[in-house]
Amino acid sequence: MERMFGRPIVTQEQMRARIRELGRQISTDYAGKELVLVGVLKGAYAFYADLARAIRIPVRVDFIVVTSYGARAKTSGKVKLVTELTEEIKGKDVLLVEDIVDSGLTVQHLMKSLAKKKPRSIKICTLLSKPERRVVDVQVEYVGFKIPNQYVVGYGLDYQQKYRNLPYLAVLDQMDDQEE
Ligand code: 5GP
Repeated sequence: MERMFGRPIVTQEQMRARIRELGRQISTDYAGKELVLVGVLKGAYAFYADLARAIRIPVRVDFIVVTSYGARAKTSGKVKLVTELTEEIKGKDVLLVEDIVDSGLTVQHLMKSLAKKKPRSIKICTLLSKPERRVVDVQVEYVGFKIPNQYVVGYGLDYQQKYRNLPYLAVLDQMDDQEE
């Protein structure tokens, strides 16, 4: 049997079913539009790949790399854009694909930065949301799962760059640098 890590809070089956629903909804909402899916790396890589394949309309794919937490599991509130888009988004409909919206600072910053490129619209699709932790008011159009205030890993999400490859989402109970 597969060795389990952490306490699973969303299983692979739940994830698959929810992503299928999101894909269906996005396909309907963006039918006939010029959709550009902008993935926020590294965290969104697994969700992005599954979501893109659940969308049944033609899309353009693009990515940005941001760093916000550094090696620690705490938000600094600072977001650094490490790479830029390669696709032209002017006049197009952008869907920002995130792993998790926590304080909301990352997506707020990214929305502002992408808005300067004059897309027709920008909306957010996140696999996870921790509404209790929000410090800024951002509108998140598509949410996979709302979760309580717990640190989660797996399915793209890391702890000190590890555990991104877990095929399910788990709660990390023990963190050795909590005081840092
Ligand atoms: P925000 O700017 O909304 O506070 O934070 C968003 C970013 O924080 C996410 O993209 C993710 O990198 C990180 N983050 C927030 N909560 C968690 C969590 O529970 N687990 C992991 N691995 N990363 C998180």
